[in-house]
Amino acid sequence: MEFRDLKKQYQRYKIELDKAIHDVLEQTDFINGPSVKRLEERLASYAGVKHCITCANGTDALYLVLKAWNIGPHDAVFVPNFTFFATAEAVSQVGATPIFVDVDPYTYNISPDHLEKMIKDTIKEGKYHPKAIIPVDLFGLLADYSKIQPLAKKYKLLVLEDAAQGFGASYHGQRACSFGDAAITSFFPAKPLGCYGDGGAIFTNDDTLASLLRSLAVHGKGSDKYDNVRIGQNSRIDTLQAAILHVKLDAFINHELSDVNQVYQWYQEYLGDIVVTPTIPKHYISCFAQYSIQLNSYEERHMLKEFLELKNIPTMIYYRKTMHQQTAYAHLNISDHEYPVSIALTSKVLQLPIHPYLSQEDVLEITSHVKLFIQSYRGEHS
Ligand SMILES: *Cc1c(COP(=O)(O)O)cnc(C)c1O
Repeated sequence: MEFRDLKKQYQRYKIELDKAIHDVLEQTDFINGPSVKRLEERLASYAGVKHCITCANGTDALYLVLKAWNIGPHDAVFVPNFTFFATAEAVSQVGATPIFVDVDPYTYNISPDHLEKMIKDTIKEGKYHPKAIIPVDLFGLLADYSKIQPLAKKYKLLVLEDAAQGFGASYHGQRACSFGDAAITSFFPAKPLGCYGDGGAIFTNDDTLASLLRSLAVHGKGSDKYDNVRIGQNSRIDTLQAAILHVKLDAFINHELSDVNQVYQWYQEYLGDIVVTPTIPKHYISCFAQYSIQLNSYEERHMLKEFLELKNIPTMIYYRKTMHQQTAYAHLNISDHEYPVSIALTSKVLQLPIHPYLSQEDVLEITSHVKLFIQSYRGEHS
């Protein structure tokens, strides 16, 4: 069994994918081929925003937006303490300081209450200027924008939605990549919509921001390609990846998003009474980048992971460390006491296999082993 089975997806779409790749080889338009522009149009329309700007990866996407917003030294950007490293890394790349915010123990997303506390603390301390919030749609569930947006307005902060794990998720029908002032996603192969290498995209309704981003991502080009009006970088998706993404986007829209939600339903049915399973609040649809459960203790999780490994069931731990515990941020000397939830989660969460091609038999097999283990372990340890 695979944790995220990209082989099954390839087998199912082999003819279409091979043709898409072959067509690019025939055309030899490896950079800026026609499928790149068409992909941007399709992604913007799917997300329901005006502009989509593709780039080399999700981390660049975050960096480019912060750069375009002129965020830099002496600025503070609020990010969840429980996320993938890139969310905070991009803030540091522009020279600003990430201010870590604790998360909700059930949705795993940035806690609006703690966010307001950290904004107030930062203002009071006066060392950095608060500029932006980067909420993350962690594991495929949208952050709570109905509470984040009013805070952003109140404290005049920009909102950058990190939907690297959230593509396809929605709230009341409004899709990921359309929240905040700008949003980003990643096409890393294991993300909900993945390509066969690296890729990323930025989304916004802001015309000025969009044209600035298009310049920054292409060596700071002006209206004339050979007049460079600012220092930018080279960050683009290549035509091959865009061609692959067209096939994958069709599959994602036609059945993958609903299939992965069916897998979630099976999991809930078999595991809901045994362990803490994902909380998907009313009117939210997750795209299930991950399926997370919570165990009672570090030891229980460790033993379950080993038990499943023996049965050839792969599991992952996202995340073993909070942001403030990362060695790269040790110099910030941040104490643990602000982050009880994030810290507790690092020792309790475990991710089980999930993807649109996981069968009901597989889910039954996984969950029956989980149940067997939990019953015997808790029987001995209660
Ligand atoms: C994967 C990921 C990124 C970075 O995306 P890349 O394309 O790998 O650079 C950023 N934020 C989050 C939350 C991610 O999961």
